[in-house]
This record gives sequence, structure tokens and C-alpha cells, in this order.
Amino acid sequence: MNAQIIDGRKIAADIQNTLKEKIKKQTGIPGLAIIQAGDDEASTIYVRNKLRAAADVGIKAVLYKFPESVTEQELSALISSLNKDKNINGMIIQLPLPAHLDEEALIDSIDPEKDVDGFHPLNIGRLQNNSPQALIAATPKGILYLLENTHISLAGKNALVIGCSKIVGRPAAMMLIQKGCTVTMAHIQTKNLPELVKMADIVISACGCPEMVKGEWIKEGAVLIDVGINRLNGKLCGDIEFASAINKASYITPVPGGVGPMTVAMLLQNTYEAYLKQNQN
Ligand code: NAD
Repeated sequence: MNAQIIDGRKIAADIQNTLKEKIKKQTGIPGLAIIQAGDDEASTIYVRNKLRAAADVGIKAVLYKFPESVTEQELSALISSLNKDKNINGMIIQLPLPAHLDEEALIDSIDPEKDVDGFHPLNIGRLQNNSPQALIAATPKGILYLLENTHISLAGKNALVIGCSKIVGRPAAMMLIQKGCTVTMAHIQTKNLPELVKMADIVISACGCPEMVKGEWIKEGAVLIDVGINRLNGKLCGDIEFASAINKASYITPVPGGVGPMTVAMLLQNTYEAYLKQNQN
């Protein structure tokens, strides 16, 4: 078998073009605030991509950039004023934050209706309850979009999620359960990963281990979604060994160009949805 490559770049571009058309028809302009503390190199690249993509679809994104030494009080004061700002519909804190800042406390202080990263406990609970009010984290939302857009049937399938972080693995597993998958979650302490992979119809890998999942582990015809963004010998790669996996899978996402662009598209989608909800009356 030679897997079909799921083109995340193209799917994300289609979403963004549709959003652009919808935003053009609005009387107002959706606003997104991005809070960044420190100069983490990867964060700076992600922020730049988000600002560029937002501007392209007609969302006004504003970056609030602070030095590494910023205090929690300063960030709290900003969040509190953005919570009240009618021109701001969505707000994200670019992670990771410098170690002296309490990430959880700051996320908890964001108005849940503006929490377009979907990290606030209320939105996590809403997702758990399968509530339509949930703002869902962009990466797992993008993963589900990729699967559904590719017409992968999910009900009754064995799905394996490798990595159970709060921002990717856990919400992705919850969404797959709601779609009728039988979900197994693997993590750093999982002992028999190759056997689990062999049983999976769908593998979502989000563990950050370069090319760890080998083609020989993969069930013939499985669907592979690679979330990992890693470097191996200076080159970007995912968690799945693409060259061997492509011969076993039916569908596979590349790295780069798979899940990554979907994360940005879903952040914009969430900002637009938050804008609509805040302006519905
Ligand atoms: P994290 O570090 O918060 O969590 C990693 C998870 O993987 C943990 O649950 C850990 O137990 C598990 N894990 C680690 N090593 C493992 C192993 N050898 N076997 C099985 N499980 C293992 O990571 P995260 O923030 O969820 O990110 C995971 C990866 O996804 C990273 O490469 C990150 O760069 C990437 N990522 C990509 C996007 C995107 O848009 N494409 C978004 C978020 C994260």
C-alpha cells in the first residue's frame, strides 16, 4: 500500500479563504490578542505565523510582547483589561511562559468566552460534556477536521493517541471517543507501544519523539496523524517514520504541512466563532 498524503496546508488554506469571505461580510472586525513573554525562538516563529494568518483573513491581531522579567501582576492586569475590551474577542497566551509565572492561574483568569486556545478549565469541561459552547483547543480540533474532511469513518475504530498532554493528546482522545472510537492513550510510561500501534486503525502521535513510530509497527491500511514537530539531523520531522510508514498506511499527514497549518486555521476559526457569539445580540 502507498498511503495518500493528507495535505494540511491545502485544507487549512481552504478554511482560511472561507473565513476571509465570511469576515468580509461582517460589519465589525474580529479582534485577537496574543500575549508573549520572553524571547523563546520557536514561540516567536509561531506568533509571527499567527499574526500573518490573522491579518490575511481580516482578523485584527495585536501582539502584547513582554520581556522575560515580566511579573505575574503585569500580565494579570493586561488580561483583566482585555477581558473587558469589546474590540478583543479572543485572547491567547503563547506557551511556554517563563518559569516564574503561574501559567495555570493566568489561563484561569481569561474570560472563557475569549479563550480561543480552549485551555480554560470551563472549556475543557465543556468539551468533556460534548457541549456546543466549548471553545476547543486548536490542534485537536484541527486533527478532527483533517479526519472528517478526508472522510475517514471513525465510529467503531480503534484509535491510539500517543502523548496525553492537556493541549493535544487528552482533548484529541475525548473528541475521538465522542465520535465513537475505542481510544487507547499511550504515554512515556507505556510498555508495549509497538503492540498497541499494531492494533490501531487510527494513530494520532503527539509525543515529540523524532521518527519513533516505525512502519513495521503499523497495521496495514491505518490512518496516521503526526502531530510531532521535531528535528533530526537538522531536518524537521514528525513522531512517525514517514518513509517506512507510507508503505503501510492508507492515509498519512506529513511534517511539515500536516497538522501544523491546521492549528493556525483553527485558532482563527475559534476567534471568528467567539466574535460571532459575543456579537449575536
Ligand atoms: P508534551 O511534552 O506536553 O507531552 C508529551 C506527551 O508525550 C506526554 O504525555 C508524554 O508522556 C508522551 N511521551 C513522551 N515520550 C514518549 C514516548 N517515548 N512514548 C510514548 N509517549 C511519550 O508535548 P505536547 O505539547 O503535547 O507536544 C507534543 C508534540 O507535538 C511536540 O513535538 C510538539 O512540538 C508537537 N505539537 C505540534 C503542534 C502542531 O500544531 N503541529 C501543536 C502542539 C504540539
